[in-house]
Amino acid sequence: MNTTFQTGLAYAKELDTKDELHQYREDFFIQPGEIYMDGNSLGMASKAAVTSIEKMIERWKKEGVQAWNDLYIYGEKISALMAPLINAKPQEITVTGSTTSNIHSALATFYHPTKDRYKILVDDLNFPTDRYAVDSMVEIKGYSIEEAVKVIQSADGEFIDEDAVIEAMTDDVSVILLPTVLYRSAQIIDMKRLTEEAHKRGIIIGFDLCHAIGAIEIDFKEIQPDFAVWCTYKYLNGGLGSTAGLYINQKHFDKKPGLAGWFGNRNDTQFQLKHQFDPQPDASGWQIGSPAIFSMAGLEGSLQIFNQLGMKKIRANSLNKTAYLMFLIDKELADYGYSYGNSTDDKVRGGHVCLQHEEAYRIAAALRNNGVVPDFREPNVIRLAPIALYTSYEEINLVVQTLKKIVAEKIYEEYSNTRSSVV
Ligand SMILES: *Cc1c(COP(=O)(O)O)cnc(C)c1O
Repeated sequence: MNTTFQTGLAYAKELDTKDELHQYREDFFIQPGEIYMDGNSLGMASKAAVTSIEKMIERWKKEGVQAWNDLYIYGEKISALMAPLINAKPQEITVTGSTTSNIHSALATFYHPTKDRYKILVDDLNFPTDRYAVDSMVEIKGYSIEEAVKVIQSADGEFIDEDAVIEAMTDDVSVILLPTVLYRSAQIIDMKRLTEEAHKRGIIIGFDLCHAIGAIEIDFKEIQPDFAVWCTYKYLNGGLGSTAGLYINQKHFDKKPGLAGWFGNRNDTQFQLKHQFDPQPDASGWQIGSPAIFSMAGLEGSLQIFNQLGMKKIRANSLNKTAYLMFLIDKELADYGYSYGNSTDDKVRGGHVCLQHEEAYRIAAALRNNGVVPDFREPNVIRLAPIALYTSYEEINLVVQTLKKIVAEKIYEEYSNTRSSVV
């Protein structure tokens, strides 16, 4: 990790003048008087995304039903824009549903328990919805959660030990579902190693890329997992509840989608409306119902920047910004009870910083009242995401000064510790 920074606002401004991505801030709706540090939870609106949504609204007004003539395969256009981000073939990606519904769809496809192989292997740090989906799927198949969901316990509650995952790949495991970047500690899981080990044992493996896609480089051509799911409203800036992604490795194109629907039917026979499902011979066969065009349109605009710059540049920029933030936490905040739960190793650190403080909840509330948008995760974590495309070094520095002031002047004591919804 780069640690050759200096403190001070003048130095931060100097870093901004040298930052070759600094100008891209202009493409986003930066709100005056506000520092947005929650791009890991909901990416900021960009001008390009809003323009593409507006265009779609115009098409609806002018064309009515005829808009479907080409939009019924709109997902293919978005898949092609997304494919370079994970180095997959566009045909291996379909843009559909939500992360959670795509986990259901993938498990319905790949989880065929037998007497000897009936378990789904998960970890205890993944986002809860992934567990809800896994638990309900084993119950649909007639098992209890206790007998069929095998959970790898993290030793410290923050990181997953890959050796422990491999050890848990026993003969009774049918499918593995793991995160790629942990949503709290931002640990990056070694997908290549785990995929190789799973495949040696004949186990299907899939990953949840929610906190990884658009934040880190991913090479599925090399990793070759069986499936993957992700949302598009975090680092991809697709908009509130924008449509999710599902990757199906091309070696599985002969498999029947577990949750079938008419939009997964072959394009050339879909509108013959036959009662026999004839799936598309690629990932688009995993679409279910009509594509949510307005929820996808933002991606047509927002993904342009990613394709223009490439993930290598974006990742390098993000690593430097998280390193700078961690440097400032060490230098300026350690005396005030702050620490971070991230790895300092660039290979293991995703796109956000996991700031820890025992008063995290009240500090997050005070941050919001002082022009900073953070997000809080129980029990003591404030996630701060300095986003490559729109967070400046100056903003990072100002956030640190605000954090210092909130504790030094005991401002957080003015806030209640009673939890409310959403953030
Ligand atoms: C954000 C997130 C989700 C969200 O699921 P949706 O179904 O898209 O709402 C799922 N899993 C992980 C790991 C996440 O970070």
